[in-house]
Amino acid sequence: MIGRTLLVTKSTIMRNSILILIAVLGLQSIVGQKQLEDYKKVLPKTLERSINFDITKGYAIQKVKPNIYVLTDGIWQSVAVVTTQGVVLIDSPESFGAKIQEAVKSVSNQPITTLIYSHGHSDHIGGSQHLSNIKNLEIISLTGTEAFLREQNDPRRLIPNKTFEGAFILKKGNTRIHLNNHMNHHSPEGDLFISIPEQQFLMVIDVLAPDYVPFKNLDLSNNIHEYLQVFDQILAYDFDVFVGGHLTSLGTRKDVEITKAYVDDVHSTVTRIHQNTNAMAVMSAAAEKVGWDNKYLLFKVFLDKVIDDSYAEIELRWINKLAGVDVWGRSHVSTMLNYVRWDD
Ligand SMILES: [Zn+2]
Repeated sequence: MIGRTLLVTKSTIMRNSILILIAVLGLQSIVGQKQLEDYKKVLPKTLERSINFDITKGYAIQKVKPNIYVLTDGIWQSVAVVTTQGVVLIDSPESFGAKIQEAVKSVSNQPITTLIYSHGHSDHIGGSQHLSNIKNLEIISLTGTEAFLREQNDPRRLIPNKTFEGAFILKKGNTRIHLNNHMNHHSPEGDLFISIPEQQFLMVIDVLAPDYVPFKNLDLSNNIHEYLQVFDQILAYDFDVFVGGHLTSLGTRKDVEITKAYVDDVHSTVTRIHQNTNAMAVMSAAAEKVGWDNKYLLFKVFLDKVIDDSYAEIELRWINKLAGVDVWGRSHVSTMLNYVRWDD
């Protein structure tokens, strides 16, 4: 009887221990990793201004000016400009590239004659592979973009057959499409500002998405110095419709101003906290636990503290204003710290 009781008690203890272990591990994973449900929901005002699209079709094509249409699948955006001498496409995203000809046909009888590349990234121009059936398609890009694509030899991205450096005005009937390479804020091979001044239309890809913070690492910019200046360059244009290449909405001047304020805040916050954090004190405290041998680790502790403290402020100020702060905000702070510490 005693033996049986001991056996029962033993197995009960074991079972309870396993349950406790599972509970602790579960708790750890909750504490250590934010659950998907914990992320801030996209704000209603953002959802309200989104372009609606038919999910079965996979894209929407929306008139934004008398002869300018925006095509989107809810994540990428491209543009079709209908002229009296054919349709000019600006970018052909890989995601809905196969549907672009069908989409253009639904709004115009004009043939597609020209394709402009905003920059060389495959997500924005990898759909050009689906336009290879168009005879004599003129493909325009910066010289640097063409050279890069030739080197990449990627079957998804057709090689441009007309290139320029600096600036070029494409004339089609009465339409004038201005292409300008002011700076390389995003892609080292070159980025274009694409504008139609008569219609106050401007397209600059991979700088901002209306009502959202920029994408990861400040929109994957290869040049934070120029990225910080790109907002003023954009605002120097006269426009009321802005296409940024991503997500669901069309932009306005106000969207550019808000994103500029966010990025400037990240810049000044990281600069101040980096200046005011005593690297030696932070590293010494860590060295008391692990010694001084692992210099990489000690320096990482310092950088992580600057990132944590900066992000805490940014989250507090922006979480209710823009979507995605708790998704990419920390990456913005981290990217900015690289710039602030080593380049600024
Ligand atoms: Zn890009």
